[in-house]
Amino acid sequence: MKNITVIGSGTMGNGIAHVFAQHNFKVNLVDISQDALDRAIATITKNLDRMVAKGSISEDVKEQTLKNLSTYTDLHAGAKEAELVVEAATENPEVKFKLFRDLDAICKPETILASNTSSISITKIAAQTKRANKVIGMHFMNPVPVMKLIEVIRGYSTDDATTKAIMELSVQLNKIPTEANDYPGFVANRILMPMINEAIISLQEGVAGVNEIDTVMKLGMAHPMGPLQLADFIGLDVCLFIMRVLYDGLGKDKYAPSPLLVNMVTAGHLGVKSGSGFYQYTAGSKELVVAPMFAK
Ligand code: NAD
Repeated sequence: MKNITVIGSGTMGNGIAHVFAQHNFKVNLVDISQDALDRAIATITKNLDRMVAKGSISEDVKEQTLKNLSTYTDLHAGAKEAELVVEAATENPEVKFKLFRDLDAICKPETILASNTSSISITKIAAQTKRANKVIGMHFMNPVPVMKLIEVIRGYSTDDATTKAIMELSVQLNKIPTEANDYPGFVANRILMPMINEAIISLQEGVAGVNEIDTVMKLGMAHPMGPLQLADFIGLDVCLFIMRVLYDGLGKDKYAPSPLLVNMVTAGHLGVKSGSGFYQYTAGSKELVVAPMFAK
């Protein structure tokens, strides 16, 4: 495979395009928003500059990486030559279903269609196409250029050849792929989100405060960040959305989202992106301050 199309140039799409382009694939980056494409190229350039400054890549690699990237707002023009499409558009089933129907019509029959979805069923996405055997999950972690893992998710109909191709390709990107089957949350979010939810329930029940819960998990379990701080970074709306996917898909009370999480999302306290969650975020400050609601 040489020609890759990445759909969506937000947080994940720009990282995915960066990693493919740096490993000398020709990358077409597609977004409905020209602004998002411009921001993505600016972010990739800044990240490459940082890598050059640290000595992890040469100036030549930076220049070649940027040359390998083209941007499109037209899906047909951006995807028609692709051997692999990696979709990283907004996490909305209707957006993804329509994209996969369109991609199925635009792309060559042998093209593999991958989705970076965190929580939508690969089997449901694949069912939008006439090539369900060639549809697969390729779940990168944020930030993509730094994180080694790719969770490779087989839908119900994904065939062995497609899985093998994506596992091998992931290694070519200098990543470590792991294979999972298509159940709600796959592996990463099936385990991570209930842990975050349990941390929020512990806070809600007064087992301990924000700092105490995060400190136990950081120092006791050697997690780089406590679960409440991590929830703030991921976005509490995203955490709630994924808990609802687990609850609906697995049908067990243990996946019920914490009422405190529901309240915080309803009140617009979404974490870093809204300026407040379990902690309070002031632009330019690196200090971790517990939000007034939870301060003792
Ligand atoms: P984002 O909101 O930062 O970016 C989404 C981009 O998709 C936007 O630029 C938007 O304009 C574009 N878009 C929307 N509809 C489109 C369409 N029809 N065609 C082309 N572009 C379209 O989102 P993100 O955080 O990068 O998430 C993208 C995907 O990656 C989601 O499926 C999400 O679940 C998954 N994911 C996110 C993370 C994370 O930490 N942010 C981690 C793993 C996986």
